[in-house]
Amino acid sequence: MSDRPATQPVLRFAPSPNGPLHLGHAYSALLAYEAARRLGGRFLLRIEDIDPGRSREVFVDGIYEDLRWLGLTWEEPVLRQSRHVDDYVAAARRLEAMGVLYRCFATRADIMTAQAASPRPLDPDGAPFYPGLHRRLCADEAARRIDAGEAFAMRLDVDKAMAFARAKLGGAPLEFVELDDGLGPQRVAADPERWGDVVIQRKDVPTSYHLSVVVDDARQGITHVVRGQDLFAATDIHRLLQILLELPEPLYCHHRLIADSSGQKLAKSAGAPGLSDLRAQGASADDIRRLVGLKK
Ligand code: GLU
Repeated sequence: MSDRPATQPVLRFAPSPNGPLHLGHAYSALLAYEAARRLGGRFLLRIEDIDPGRSREVFVDGIYEDLRWLGLTWEEPVLRQSRHVDDYVAAARRLEAMGVLYRCFATRADIMTAQAASPRPLDPDGAPFYPGLHRRLCADEAARRIDAGEAFAMRLDVDKAMAFARAKLGGAPLEFVELDDGLGPQRVAADPERWGDVVIQRKDVPTSYHLSVVVDDARQGITHVVRGQDLFAATDIHRLLQILLELPEPLYCHHRLIADSSGQKLAKSAGAPGLSDLRAQGASADDIRRLVGLKK
């Protein structure tokens, strides 16, 4: 039995093993780790390896090596999302039973064509806004496409989902709590509608980042989600899913992004040096802390 109080903070670092860790990841991991220590909390590592096309074991090994080198320790076993797909499927079934998911056979080209015909602002990730193409597809047509072997994704009907959430909230606004650097709380309005009908189960894998992350933050009892500002808008969807699936609400802290010398966000800038490259060039873990502004 654990002697930890039920309210002990739990923080996590949740990288996707799609490439080598760079300074932006180091900053995120160190912030979460140090916040866990400051709060007297636990620190967990989660490998978000649901993407069969992009995840590589060599990057998982690299994550362990880089984080150890930075001086981080975490609880074992590490949660590997690829081993828990059944749980994401179960959560999706629950959403489906609520009537807030629908099958979408549309291809990227279909979405681009619809977008060109009646342009809409892009979604917060800069992707074409999904124009609800198969939202009202009749059962016969869906069955015909399935018989023809067409792949489909499951999308969230954001209008229905919001109606459900509003009923559950009983008039309270859809919000999340954002902590500033000093971990001071501020309530922020969540606006899932700006995302449109997001994919909950992809065509190639029966889950998605949004679904897996909320299921696992709940499974692992995460109390404080520390992650980059690039995921701030995604929290709109995460809060909505937490309400629909009756999952606990963590606090959020979306930190600044580390830029390269030209001011471009590291993840997007081509050729950002990996932590292992910097290590090979003779950098120490303290040098990394200095480079990301966590040490003088
Ligand atoms: N796996 C995500 C990434 O590497 C982060 C997920 C999260 O912190 O919510 O970008």
